[in-house]
Amino acid sequence: MTTLQDCRALDAQDPLRALRDQFSIPEGVIYLDGNSLGVLPKTAMARVAEVVTQEWGHGLIRSWNSAGWFELPQRLGDKIARLIGAAPGEVVATDSTSVNLYKVLSAALHIAAQDAPQRKVMVSERSNFPTDLYIAQALCAERGLRLQLVEPDEVAAALTPEVAVLMLTHVNYRTGAMHDMAAVTAAAHAAGALTVWDLAHSAGAVPVELNASNADFSIGCGYKYLNGGPGAPAFVWVNPRHAERFWQPLAGWWGHAAPFQFTPDYRPAPGIARYLCGTQPMLSLAALECGLDTVLAAEPLGGMVALRAKSLALTDLFIELTEQRCAGYGLGLATPRAHAQRGSQVCLTRTHPQDPEGDSGAYAIVQALIARGVIGDFRAGDPSTGPGRRGALDILRFGLTPLYLGFEDVWHAVEHLRQVLETGEWQRAEFNQKMAVT
Ligand SMILES: *Cc1c(COP(=O)(O)O)cnc(C)c1O
Repeated sequence: MTTLQDCRALDAQDPLRALRDQFSIPEGVIYLDGNSLGVLPKTAMARVAEVVTQEWGHGLIRSWNSAGWFELPQRLGDKIARLIGAAPGEVVATDSTSVNLYKVLSAALHIAAQDAPQRKVMVSERSNFPTDLYIAQALCAERGLRLQLVEPDEVAAALTPEVAVLMLTHVNYRTGAMHDMAAVTAAAHAAGALTVWDLAHSAGAVPVELNASNADFSIGCGYKYLNGGPGAPAFVWVNPRHAERFWQPLAGWWGHAAPFQFTPDYRPAPGIARYLCGTQPMLSLAALECGLDTVLAAEPLGGMVALRAKSLALTDLFIELTEQRCAGYGLGLATPRAHAQRGSQVCLTRTHPQDPEGDSGAYAIVQALIARGVIGDFRAGDPSTGPGRRGALDILRFGLTPLYLGFEDVWHAVEHLRQVLETGEWQRAEFNQKMAVT
């Protein structure tokens, strides 16, 4: 049984420990929601203030050149590329994840329509993040395709000769289950389908090898494990073999080959730059760069490989301690135990021990934990996933970010969970009021 003393010893030996000092984390908070909104990098406060007062306030329009504003989406894209197995010049930081998904799915469907017009199906996972499914639904309706939703273990069987595009999120937001990107991409290609990978819960959380996996298209989120701030710009990567085959549909002037010639005709920029649309938010990009730098600061210490090793140790510990110390309260594990099959979060299912059909209490348990300073979140179960499936039950979700969490934090978080369950504190009315954002 791991003790508090053991956890302190693990922290003392942790080679990544000093990385935590990069962040401003409120006193008394154990933050287990970096998979939803990463914490504030200390540098972001001064950097955003500098952009406001100096670059905007003083530099004004000159800053597009003198402060490097115009190149910022590409410059940050090159930093993101280092975290996802892409090359310089292959990524841009821009727009939102949802918008970027629309661009790459459109491109994938366009290429499929040229190369294999008889293919009329897009495959994704039923438990994919809703915005991904909604964007896919809209595009399939517009292009006359059928969207086929399957369970994670049914993906391989779904890759029939009708399939044009396989769209998956690498690490599932609700369960933390991770696909083998290289193997799934190879299976899709063998079946003649293109792949679109959403890295929202992967970038900055697990090593990703887009080029080595031979993926086709990818997008990801700036405000989760990349610590870019609320609503931070997202990113987009297109395999160079596809990048110039198509204009993405939001063909705005920032994706033009020569935007300042102001020509009436659209001529797409070479490479990934054509995936830009219009003028980008410089304050947000400046904050995103501070977030990216917090992750890149791990490079001299082993980079994503070292972060991954610590993330697995933290998630293993969280699982071990909840199973040892919180047994008998209706909790289960939604996240796969196998290291190769999970991301950087632990998701616990909850059913009411006396009333399995009734309210699971998962929402209220999370609220009671938040009141104690242990911030995780709740995701409602999706019964359409089918009984017995991971994701069918209500979930308590805990993201464990190795950049700023320690082993002692995990010990205390589980101890709070144990106390919330043992005392029945979560049943208090104040913890049962649903708020707009869960
Ligand atoms: C967080 C997340 C998004 C977020 O999309 P936005 O456009 O930023 O709202 C999209 N897809 C997945 C899989 C996510 O986890």
